[in-house]
Amino acid sequence: MYILFAALLGLILGSFYSVCASRYGTGKTIIKPARSECPQCGHQLSVLENIPLVSFIIQKGRCKHCGVRIPFFYPLIEIFSMAWAVLAALHASSPAEWGALMIIGGICLVASAIDLQTFLLPDVLTYPGAVVILAASYAGVLHIDFIQSLLGAFIGAFALWAVAALYKLIRKIDGMGFGDVKFMLMLGALTGLDHLSIFVLIASLCALLFSIISLRKKVGISTTYIPFGPFLASGALLTYLYGNQIAAAIQ
Ligand SMILES: [Zn+2]
Repeated sequence: MYILFAALLGLILGSFYSVCASRYGTGKTIIKPARSECPQCGHQLSVLENIPLVSFIIQKGRCKHCGVRIPFFYPLIEIFSMAWAVLAALHASSPAEWGALMIIGGICLVASAIDLQTFLLPDVLTYPGAVVILAASYAGVLHIDFIQSLLGAFIGAFALWAVAALYKLIRKIDGMGFGDVKFMLMLGALTGLDHLSIFVLIASLCALLFSIISLRKKVGISTTYIPFGPFLASGALLTYLYGNQIAAAIQ
């Protein structure tokens, strides 16, 4: 029952996240227009056309009005949100931890979706994300020591900044944005110093998997600039959930 509730909430939140991500940088806000509309014909979606995931499947991924294909990207955000809500519920040892993980996962999802579309990681997400995690670990809500969290944030961000600076020195182009460094401040806080290496390993594996299945064609990502946000986020979230098991397995 608890898991079913988590899945439903994840799905509904995912729908909200995809609205946030799709409206970023368009001049629209989260509350205005109140109803989602088709990006092609401007047709306002009715309640029935706006059910997370279900509407997409029933309408076979097309706008009911003009027939334009709706990018699979949006229901994918809903699926990821649902999956995270369930994984976090299975893992969390208290409702407070689950709540904190839902907020953290939400920030990660919206930031990743925006990064994929615009190559930007907005400060309005990364900084509050870091504060939420540090506050939660300080309050003992997360299963991570506050000092570990603090060290993970700053050493992680510094290491990524150093890699970015080195890459720029050698290739003479920006391979990584400063947004990634700020995102690392948040994610390093989530994994802690001890698990930074596991985090980087999982993030690299996710990036490798992504280039193998070559999703880049579908989302139209340029080859010179890679949005690292989604890989960093996946790596950190999975490390938070399974870091201890992975560390035990490696040793
Ligand atoms: Zn339409």
